[in-house]
Amino acid sequence: MSQVVITVLPSIMTEMKNKYNSMLTDKQPPGSVFVAKLPSCTITAYRSGKVLFQGAGAETEAKPWQSADAPSPKKKSAKKVCDHQYAPPSTISSLSAIGSDEVGTGDFFGPMTVVAAFVDKKQMPLLKELGVRDSKGMKDPEIIEIAKNLIKTIPYSLLILPNEKYNAMQRKGMNQGKMKALLHNQAIQNVQKKVPSYDAILVDQFAKPEVYFNYLKGQPTIVKDSVYFATKAEELHLAVAAASIIARYSFVMEMNRLGKENNVELPKGAGPVVDQAAAKLIQKHGEDVLNKVAKVHFANSQKAIKLVEKAKRSK
Ligand code: MN
Repeated sequence: MSQVVITVLPSIMTEMKNKYNSMLTDKQPPGSVFVAKLPSCTITAYRSGKVLFQGAGAETEAKPWQSADAPSPKKKSAKKVCDHQYAPPSTISSLSAIGSDEVGTGDFFGPMTVVAAFVDKKQMPLLKELGVRDSKGMKDPEIIEIAKNLIKTIPYSLLILPNEKYNAMQRKGMNQGKMKALLHNQAIQNVQKKVPSYDAILVDQFAKPEVYFNYLKGQPTIVKDSVYFATKAEELHLAVAAASIIARYSFVMEMNRLGKENNVELPKGAGPVVDQAAAKLIQKHGEDVLNKVAKVHFANSQKAIKLVEKAKRSK
């Protein structure tokens, strides 16, 4: 029995699945996207992009797809190739994909929220109808309105890293990049379990892919197959735009909750207004309160403490 393995781009795999549509079988091995039983051979396509042809007609059947073979990732020459290895295919926006993004990393107050979300290509018109798009210019009320519909419409995983936990990890020497990588990897796995199949995973890039995977070393599961990285990925795929909206929604809700619990309105960001609010908080509840509501290693902590001392002296 002859056997041929080729590697294809997600778009080609989708094309293949369409072509063999009438010959697909339900029996699928783990990690596979589809299995097609042809009279002359069996075709098994994997999420990694690998497609296995087995049987007498393997070579003949594989041949037309081979020209569309994705470039081998082994062909490393210039430095730039490292980036390219995980660069999404040009067709990314039309693929069914899991996207991930995080919010709250640059804000002194509030938790870090990470979301992975799945958007099937069939659902894209509906999501556009719901207003899902790059949320950078959106105000909170719009985010909240869209997110409320979104969480009822698509599979997603939301992970909230409470400030106390964040601060403990940070004190142990873990940097923010590693925390993000761990949460993205976890959220993506959670969504993988919720969806039958997908073409690609797109991470809104916060670190170079090799750095990201370095952070994940030692993790029981590292999602690497079909993973792509791009900056401003919310512009590239609705799944990332959706993930970003849900993450922002959750962040806003958490900020409201923490503010109410402490009778102070908590501003976003890390500017002077934030120092003032932090000083107010310390005056009301003592310095320890920051550990529960803020990322204490930010310079805002010391600035707030100084403001409180200044206020005491001027009394
Ligand atoms: Mn992002």
